[in-house]
Amino acid sequence: MRDCSPNPAYVGRFAPSPTGDLHFGSLTAALASYLQARTMNGQWLLRIEDLDPPREVAGSADRIIADLRRFGMEPDRAIMYQSCRREAYTLASTRLLDSGLAFYCSCSRKSLPASGIYPGTCRNGISPGIRKRNCAIRVKVAAQPIEFTDVVQGLQRQDLQTSCGDFVIRRADGLTAYQLAVVVDDAHQGVTEVVRGADLLDSTGRQIWLQQKLGLSTPGYLHLPVAALHDGSKLSKRLGSDPVRNLPPAAALRSALKFLGHEAPALSLAGTWQWALENWSPALIPRQQTRPWNAGLQQNQLRA
Ligand code: GLU
Repeated sequence: MRDCSPNPAYVGRFAPSPTGDLHFGSLTAALASYLQARTMNGQWLLRIEDLDPPREVAGSADRIIADLRRFGMEPDRAIMYQSCRREAYTLASTRLLDSGLAFYCSCSRKSLPASGIYPGTCRNGISPGIRKRNCAIRVKVAAQPIEFTDVVQGLQRQDLQTSCGDFVIRRADGLTAYQLAVVVDDAHQGVTEVVRGADLLDSTGRQIWLQQKLGLSTPGYLHLPVAALHDGSKLSKRLGSDPVRNLPPAAALRSALKFLGHEAPALSLAGTWQWALENWSPALIPRQQTRPWNAGLQQNQLRA
């Protein structure tokens, strides 16, 4: 018997960027985060990461929300939009600047090395006369590796100095970088476990670093295999990334479960949910960072 009393100690979330419709890959992240929260009797939140207006696809946030609803995934609190959280991000970057852990950077993208590792050019100040308002803000990382144990991917060790160097928290165009926004918002919402695709595993070290410097607690992390093409590249807009709206929901759910290592029998949508809630086990999720996108597909059932 499952104990169904609410567990205020677990808060999970799904945090899509509205840069396209919910496709098979994002469905697996929504599903896994939802099942983790539900089987822990915790809360499941939805946060729309609309930080970057130029990359937004008009209407996609509403379509993602409607698609999740169509599957039966309802968040436990009002949906949060990152576009409403600018003040909180400014406060966090100001704190990092004031404590000497962040600095203004006037380097153009072109002047940076191809490795992507920041050479430290503006660490000791920018030339007088350059307007800070037009600069990026970077944080000063040290040679201190970050370690954490991911529920699926196991022990991780990330050395920020050799993997990315001083990284950007505010872009020169004034937009907040994903790394800072996600940390500020996960803490604000009291998220205790982050479930998302392994394409963000590399970002986790930067996020833990920011949590430590901002005095925020570090949630647990569970990084799922990402649906990829056979050559390992991520699903693109063209290939295998049809909106899940075009698929029958029960079959799409069953395919996503299969992709995540759970073989459900063919049932109705309600029956598939019941099966999933009774059988969900993160230990069954394949310990891979990418998986062929059709590993979970049941072709004949996916033809609507
Ligand atoms: N907004 C990010 C994305 O859609 C995910 C952020 C996260 O889960 O931390 O790729």
